Amino acid sequence: MPSFKTLDDLPADLTGQTALVRVDLNLPMHEGRASDVTRVEAVKPTILELADRGAKLLLLAHFGRPKGQRHSTMSTSLVQGDVERVLDREIMFVSEVGGPVVEQSLGILRPGDIGLLDNVRFWPGEEANDPEFARAIAANGDFYVNDAFSAAHRAHASTEGLTHFLPSYAGRAMEAELKALEAALGNPERPVAAVVGGAKVSTKLDVLQHLVKQVQHLIIGGGMANTFLAARGVDVGKSLAEHDLAATANRIMDEAEHAGCTVHLPYDVVVAKEFAANPASLRTANVHEVAADEMILDIGPRAVEALGDVLKTCRTLVWNGPLGAFETPPFDAATVALARTAAALTQEGSLTSVAGGGDTVAALAHAGVARDFTYVSTAGGAFLEWMEGRELPGVAALTR
Ligand code: ADP
Ligand code: MG
Repeated sequence: MPSFKTLDDLPADLTGQTALVRVDLNLPMHEGRASDVTRVEAVKPTILELADRGAKLLLLAHFGRPKGQRHSTMSTSLVQGDVERVLDREIMFVSEVGGPVVEQSLGILRPGDIGLLDNVRFWPGEEANDPEFARAIAANGDFYVNDAFSAAHRAHASTEGLTHFLPSYAGRAMEAELKALEAALGNPERPVAAVVGGAKVSTKLDVLQHLVKQVQHLIIGGGMANTFLAARGVDVGKSLAEHDLAATANRIMDEAEHAGCTVHLPYDVVVAKEFAANPASLRTANVHEVAADEMILDIGPRAVEALGDVLKTCRTLVWNGPLGAFETPPFDAATVALARTAAALTQEGSLTSVAGGGDTVAALAHAGVARDFTYVSTAGGAFLEWMEGRELPGVAALTR
């Protein structure tokens, strides 16, 4: 595994030192309050550990897309209260990220105190990864901790630039994420299965292309399966499918065969004439029996059973994308059933399971198994780029 430094590589007593800590505080807001504080909970261990070891902390984060200008509606001060509530500590808001205002604040903060810098994206130097901007931020810190994997696919000053000026460490959340991802695709125990589902092939072409070379079993579900079935000449009726991607789908299946990867497409499916909860026209059909006025909205129970058997032969699973239109019952059935099988195998100790993706996380939570997977990543874009086999600049900078 590419090595990176963690908080264990810092002296036990950090009194007298200032830590610049990149965190993800891009919280979803509702009526002036965060509607979900999962991201704060994720960075809490790192923040409290550094504070309890005596460091002064300066938290660095982005909030929304201000595009290099100050907007009062995107100030990190708006999440100060939420952060304080989760940490159960008072923190000090600082309206800049570098310069004398930050320096003066450091004069007020005592060891173990926490300052929250304003939205780093208010300054154009952030997204431009301007070294002078990074240098100005770095001037107020003794070391840099990155605990925001979700922003690691961007080469910005606060995710990459700072590592050129300060000794750099992965925070606890970053460390856990990198270890889990390494165990799933970097150096996994074989056989490895990948589940790729969701609405469209076009959004996940690079993922599929990378995975066929990495895994022994590629399980395709969701709307993507319709595209693959159609490419094989199956009539998918009114289903969501990208018929213009038939050649691409066939090429991916050829590449898989060449690489020794078995592609699993469903042989039974759940169909309906209208997309609604528990529609009257609901039925289970063989993929070759879908009528012209029907839509495939989930993979079928026989397919799910066979896929469960595949998972039983595997040691590692990586999952992105639901197998059906899981928000609308009963089209959640396949996703819920296979997720529960994967969770049970994980709990028995025979499977290492890693999942990620916005809707995937919601689907696993809906199935009640999010905690039973080995690791569930909440980093949307960064997780997908990692599944595409790309080097993430924020991670590469820590391992340099
Ligand atoms: P993630 O956010 O986990 O990466 P995606 O955004 O790619 O996942 O896909 C999730 C969406 O795919 C869900 O909204 C789900 O309803 C939809 N979906 C899955 N299967 C089907 C299907 N057969 N027909 C239509 N939509 C589907
Ligand atoms: Mg999604």
